[in-house]
Amino acid sequence: MRAFRNAVIVIVAVLLVGVALAVYRAGGGEGSASILGKKSLRIGVKSDQPRLGLRMWDGSFEGFDVDVATYVAGRLGVARGDLTFIGLTSNEREQALRDGTVDMVFATYSITPERKEKVTFGGPYYVAHQDILVRAGDRSIENVSDLRGKRLCQAAGSNSWRRVTEERKVAAELVRASNYSECVTALKEDRMDAVSTDDLILAGFAASNGSGTTMVKAPFTNEKYGVGLRKGDMAGCQAVNRYLTEMYQNGTAKTLLTEWFGSVDFAVGTSVPEFEGCT
Ligand code: GLU
Repeated sequence: MRAFRNAVIVIVAVLLVGVALAVYRAGGGEGSASILGKKSLRIGVKSDQPRLGLRMWDGSFEGFDVDVATYVAGRLGVARGDLTFIGLTSNEREQALRDGTVDMVFATYSITPERKEKVTFGGPYYVAHQDILVRAGDRSIENVSDLRGKRLCQAAGSNSWRRVTEERKVAAELVRASNYSECVTALKEDRMDAVSTDDLILAGFAASNGSGTTMVKAPFTNEKYGVGLRKGDMAGCQAVNRYLTEMYQNGTAKTLLTEWFGSVDFAVGTSVPEFEGCT
């Protein structure tokens, strides 16, 4: 009899914990808070990438990613004045979403299987292709295999160096940096031989630094730029995808891409990217 009573107590306790957990999740417990219905939004962007995400002297941010974020936020019902942009490095993106430092990330953020484990991605809103930046006049690097034995920038938390040394097994000598502007400075100062990352990023640097560097124009990957959201925010993700589709249909995407990259020596893509689906 006593054993029976104890068993009933255990079963009831387990059921109560289950119900409590379900209520917590449904109520948007930690980590599952949606971007929907917020009156203000914190948005993670790059702070050192010209034409994409760049912090200005007055603390404001500008670039294509900033404008796409502003458009999507506007459609979510949050006006420009209620947005706070926060500069993030590649290495900080997942953690900033997870700990609530930011609500969304628009930061040349490629959708990858590993990142999908930790982040829900809307989009992509653009598909870039990885390319290589070298010092002007350097003809020794014409494609990714030529990076063998060369000093290649390894930007922390970025995927680009992995595409070279891990995926393509090209034995470059990796030199660490914390972001891509540091990579480009080191390239100019001859402390690196090459910076390999998304063409959109390299085009922005090549154009803003006058000259001294050239893009090789030998693209070798597809980098799908996603909108990083807290893992599990399916409703938020679907809303973002709706507004990104609209942004392409109403011509805004083309206008923004042309505005930021139209005058740069680089053929920017303006066709609608194929969506990944929210997971
Ligand atoms: N899109 C690539 C990535 O997400 C390279 C650029 C970056 O790190 O922001 O890793």
